[in-house]
Amino acid sequence: MKYADVIVDISHENVDRPFEYIVPSELEASLRCGCQVVIPFGKGNKQIQGFVINIKEEPTFDVNRLKAIESILPGSRRIESHMIELAAYIRENYGSTMNKALKIVLPVRKKSSPIVEKYISCSPDRQKVEEALERYRSDKRMVARCRLLEEAAKEKVLPYNIVRDKLNISVQTIRSLEKEGLIRIDIMENLRDAFQIKEQLPYTIRLNPDQLGIADDIWERYQAQDLRPSLIRGITGSGKTEIYIELIDRMIRQGKQAIVLIPEIALTYQTVLRFYKKFGDRISVINSRLTAAQKHDQLEKARRHEVDIIIGPRSALFTPFDHLGIIIIDEEHESTYKNENAPRYHSREVAVKLAQMSGGIVVLGSATPSVESYYKAKNGIYQLYSLDKRAKGKGLPEVSIVDLRQELASGNRSIISRKLDELIRDRLERKEQIILFINRRAYQSFVSCRSCGAPVQCPHCDVSLKYHRNGKLICHYCGYEMPMVRVCPSCGSKYIGTFGAGTQKVEEEVNRLYPEAMTLRMDMDTTREKDGHEKILSAFANREADILVGTQMIVKGHDFPDVTLVGILAADISLYSGSYLSAERTFQLITQASGRAGRGARQGNVIIQTYSPENYAVQMGASQDYPQFYEHEMSYRKLLGYPPSMNMLGIFAASKDERLLQESMEQISRMVDQKIREGLNVIRIGPSAAPIARIQDQYRKILYIKAPDYADLTRIKDLMEEMAEQFPDKGLSLIYDFSLNAN
Ligand code: ADP
Ligand code: ZN
Ligand code: ZN
Repeated sequence: MKYADVIVDISHENVDRPFEYIVPSELEASLRCGCQVVIPFGKGNKQIQGFVINIKEEPTFDVNRLKAIESILPGSRRIESHMIELAAYIRENYGSTMNKALKIVLPVRKKSSPIVEKYISCSPDRQKVEEALERYRSDKRMVARCRLLEEAAKEKVLPYNIVRDKLNISVQTIRSLEKEGLIRIDIMENLRDAFQIKEQLPYTIRLNPDQLGIADDIWERYQAQDLRPSLIRGITGSGKTEIYIELIDRMIRQGKQAIVLIPEIALTYQTVLRFYKKFGDRISVINSRLTAAQKHDQLEKARRHEVDIIIGPRSALFTPFDHLGIIIIDEEHESTYKNENAPRYHSREVAVKLAQMSGGIVVLGSATPSVESYYKAKNGIYQLYSLDKRAKGKGLPEVSIVDLRQELASGNRSIISRKLDELIRDRLERKEQIILFINRRAYQSFVSCRSCGAPVQCPHCDVSLKYHRNGKLICHYCGYEMPMVRVCPSCGSKYIGTFGAGTQKVEEEVNRLYPEAMTLRMDMDTTREKDGHEKILSAFANREADILVGTQMIVKGHDFPDVTLVGILAADISLYSGSYLSAERTFQLITQASGRAGRGARQGNVIIQTYSPENYAVQMGASQDYPQFYEHEMSYRKLLGYPPSMNMLGIFAASKDERLLQESMEQISRMVDQKIREGLNVIRIGPSAAPIARIQDQYRKILYIKAPDYADLTRIKDLMEEMAEQFPDKGLSLIYDFSLNAN
C-alpha cells in the first residue's frame, strides 16, 4: 500500500499543509508526484481538488482514519518534481500558501485540443504490396484502391487530407486497405507555432574581442562549476544580446536547454528574429498575445524536447525543461520581473534558485542594472562584467540638460523648450527621425477645478479620474467611468478642465509646431489592439513618420538607425513618486531613453528637460555614468537603511473595514515590538496609510520592517502567518513584499 501527501486546492492559511491519503491500488501505477487529484475532504467528505507533493511507503497517521484518493483529475497537467521544490521555495521566501505557489509553477492548462493530423503510410511488406497491386490493376472495380496504393508505395507518408481531396479517394477505400494491412494510418499531433517565420535566414555576427572575452569567461567558470550568476552591465547597443546567443549556442551543443526572459515590451519581432536566425525552429516564444492553447503547446514542445530555447516574459521561467543549462534575464532591472500579486516573487531570485537546482547558470544583463544586483556583483555574490563601447555605429549621443524653470521665466510656455525646438527643426530638415518621450505615470491628464483646486476623484478609490479623448473620466485602478463634468462637483464652478500634458496633448502641440512633419503616437490607448505596439514600431522603423511620441513603451525593443534626436520632455517626474527607488528609476529612464539616439551611422543628440537640473539622478543620467550613480545612490541607501544596504519587508494590508484594518496593524506592530524586546534585530516603520489609501472601497495600510539579516524577516513573516491563522476570517488581506532576498 502507498500513501500520498496532498496539498488541497483551497487558498486558506488554516489548511496550508499536506494531508495524508491512501493511494488506491488501481491508481498506484499512474499516480505521480505533481499530479492533480480529486479527494474527499473535511467532515462532509466534500469532493475537492489537490496536488500530490509526495508519495511514500509508510503512513504517518493511523491508517484506519485515512481516506483514499478518489481519482486523478481528468485532463490535468502534472507538475514536475523540481517545480514542486521551486514552489516550496516561493512559499517560504515570499509568503504564500503552498497551494498558491503550486499554481504559479503549474503549467497552463490546455484549453482546446491540439491540431490533429492523420497520415497514411505504406506497409513495409513489399511483396504483399506488389501482389495486391497486381490484383487491383487487373480489376476495374479496384481503380481507386490501385491509385491509393501506388501513391502510398511511392511516397513514404501521405497526409490523409491530401489523399481524400487531391486523389479523390473515399473513406471506405482507405479503410479497406487498412484492414488488409496494406497501409497504416497514423495520428500526429501538430503543435501550434507561436510565430510564423518560414524563411531560412543567415546568421553572420562574429563576437568582437570584448564580447568573446566575457562569453569565454562565463563559459570557463561554468565548466569549472563556478555557478554564481553573472551580471553584464553594458550600455545599450554594446552587444549583450550577441553574448547571450553565443552562450546559449554552447549550452545546446552540450544537450542543455535555455530560458531567455525579456520584458514583454521588448519582446518584439525584431528581437525574436535575431534568436531565430541563429537557432531556427529550436526556439519558441511565449508572450501574452498567445492563446492559452498556443501557450500550452509551446511548453509541451519544451517537454518533448522539440525545442531547446524558450523566450518570453516572467512566466517563461516555469517552462518544464529537464536539462536546463542557462537562464538569461535581459533588462534585469525591469520592475515587471517582480510579480505584482501575492506571492510577490522576483523572477531574478527564483531563476537563481531554479538554476541552482538544475546545475545551470544565470546571466543577467542591463545598461542600468538594479542597484540590488550591482550591489551583489560588487560583493562577489554575482560575477560582474562591463561593456562600455557600442558594438557598431557611433559612440554615445551628446546629452544636454534644459532647465524648464528658465524656459518659463523667459516666456516659453510650450512643452517643447527652445533648444529642443531648434534641434527638431534641424532634424526634420535633414530627414532624420525624432523620438519624444513622456513619463507615463506623470502625464496622464486629470481634471481639476481652477476655482477651488479640487481634482475630480473616483468615488471608490483615493485617486483622481483621468480624462480620455472619448469624453469620459476613467479610474485607472477600478475602471469606474463617468462622463466628463461641466461644473466642479465640489463647488459648482464652471472653471474646470484638464491639466498636464498627456501623449495626446504633446502630439497636438507637435502637430501645431511642425505641421509638415508626420507623427506617430504610442501609448496605452494606441496599442490596445492586437499587435498594436508592434505595428507602430515597424511603421516608425519603416520611416512612415518623422516623430514618434510615446511613453516608457518606446524605450525598448527596436533599433531605429535613423533616430538622431531624443527629447525627454519632463525627466524628473519620476523623482517624486515617493519611493526610495525614485532616483534609480529616473536614472534608468534617462539612460534607456538616451540609448535610443544615434544607433546608426550618425551621432545623436539627447535633450533632457527638467525642473531639477541639479539632481544627481538627472546629472548622472545625462553623463550616462552608471558606476558613479551607483556609488552616490548606495551612500544614500546606507544612510537611510534602504535595500540593498538592509533587507526590507513591506506588509500591505487591506480591508473594507477601516477599524479592523487599524486594529490588525496594531496587533502586528505589538508582535514585532515584542520580538524586538526579545532581541530580534529588526526595525519597524509605520504602519501608515498606503500611497493610495483606498482602492475599490478597500482601505490600505503599509508596515515596513528592516533587518540586516534576511532570515529575521522570514521569521517575522512566519510568525505573522501563525497569527493570521488565528485571525477570524473577517476580510483582511495581507500581502508580503520582500525587497531584497539574499540568495
Ligand atoms: P545590447 O543587447 O547590448 O543592446 P545588441 O546585442 O542588440 O546590444 O547589439 C547592438 C547592435 O550591434 C545589434 O544590431 C547587433 O546585431 C550589433 N552587433 C552586436 N555585436 C556585434 C558584432 N560582434 N559584430 C557586428 N555587429 C554586432
Ligand atoms: Zn471647485
Ligand atoms: Zn476607482
